[in-house]
Amino acid sequence: MPTIFAKIIRGEADADIVYQDDRVTCFRDISPVAPVHILIVPNKEIATVNDLTDEDQALAGYMILTAQRLAREAGIHESGYRLIINCNQDGGQVVDHLHMHLVGGRPMGPMVARKR
Ligand code: AMP
Repeated sequence: MPTIFAKIIRGEADADIVYQDDRVTCFRDISPVAPVHILIVPNKEIATVNDLTDEDQALAGYMILTAQRLAREAGIHESGYRLIINCNQDGGQVVDHLHMHLVGGRPMGPMVARKR
């Protein structure tokens, strides 16, 4: 079964796409946690960080550089932002297609909520 992200990449599902090329598709998160919340998604169907291989090295770097550029275009590169990749259950990954969150436009607070 293709994930919702695979469908968005192929144009089979709607999304607010802010950038797309032959390597990545970037679109606004449907449930944003900050004024800027964009997902940077490789077009290649890679499920999780665990599934990256040496041949994906350039692609992984390209995801970060794309996020950097989108942050600049969104005007949050000086105020700051956070890049997040969740992996599997404990990481909080809910869509099994690798993606990086670009979040910013407000103070993001502690990196992870402390366990009480
Ligand atoms: P993660 O928990 O890292 O797997 O994050 C998945 C993210 O995808 C969540 O922040 C969701 O709000 C977002 N999401 C799920 N479906 C869509 C969609 N159709 N369009 C845009 N964002 C989505």
